[in-house]
Amino acid sequence: MSSKTDWVDATKRLLDKYKGKKHPLDYKNTFQLMVMVILSARDSDRHINQVAETLFKEIPNMKVLATYTPETLMPFIEGVRSSGNKANWLIKIAKELKTDSSIPTTLDGLTALPGIGRKSANVILREAGLPAEGIMVDLHTIRVAPRLGIVDTEDPKKIEQQLMEILPRKYWDAGMAMSFLGREICRPKPKCEICFMRDVCEYYKKVISQN
Ligand code: SF4
Repeated sequence: MSSKTDWVDATKRLLDKYKGKKHPLDYKNTFQLMVMVILSARDSDRHINQVAETLFKEIPNMKVLATYTPETLMPFIEGVRSSGNKANWLIKIAKELKTDSSIPTTLDGLTALPGIGRKSANVILREAGLPAEGIMVDLHTIRVAPRLGIVDTEDPKKIEQQLMEILPRKYWDAGMAMSFLGREICRPKPKCEICFMRDVCEYYKKVISQN
C-alpha cells in the first residue's frame, strides 16, 4: 500500500464524483432492494432488473412472499444463478420477518439473515439511507482498490478492514465509489487515459514507468 499518498484527500475526489449515485439495481423500496441484492449475488444487475419486473408484479411485499414456498417461488427466478439456494433463503427470510417494516436496519441484523453477507448488508444500508457500519466491497472494488494502491490485498475482508482503518467514517461510501469507478473506467481493461485518479494510482505509475 502506498504510504506517500494522502488517501483521505484522494478518496474525497472519488466520493464527490459519485456522491448520491443510485445503485444499478432498479428497486422501488427496501423490500425490493433486499430481494434484488440477494438475487444479484454472482449474477448481473442487468439480469436481476429484468427478472424483477414480473417477480414484483406477483410478489409486491414480504407478506405476500411469506405465502410462497421455494418451489412456488422458483418459476419467477429461474435462470438466476444459484436460484435454488436463493429461493430457500428468500422464503426463510419472509417467514421470519413477515412484513416489510421488520427488515433489519443494522449490519448485524441484516447479516443474521440467510443469504446476506457484509457486502449485501453494506449495500442495503447505503441504499436505504441508513448509517454506514462498514465499507461495501464488491468485485469492482476488489479490482480497483489494489490497483489504486490504497490497499495491499485482494481479499475482500482485508480490503474492507484496511479501508476502514485508513478512511474516516464519513468517507465509508468509498467502496461503492470505487465500484462505480470500476464499472465505468477502471474496467478489467482499465481506461487510464480518461481516469481522474491517475495522479495517485499505483497501477498507472507502474505502467508509465515501464513505457
Ligand atoms: S488510473 Fe487506470 S488503473 Fe488507476 S484507477 Fe484509473 S483506470 Fe484504474
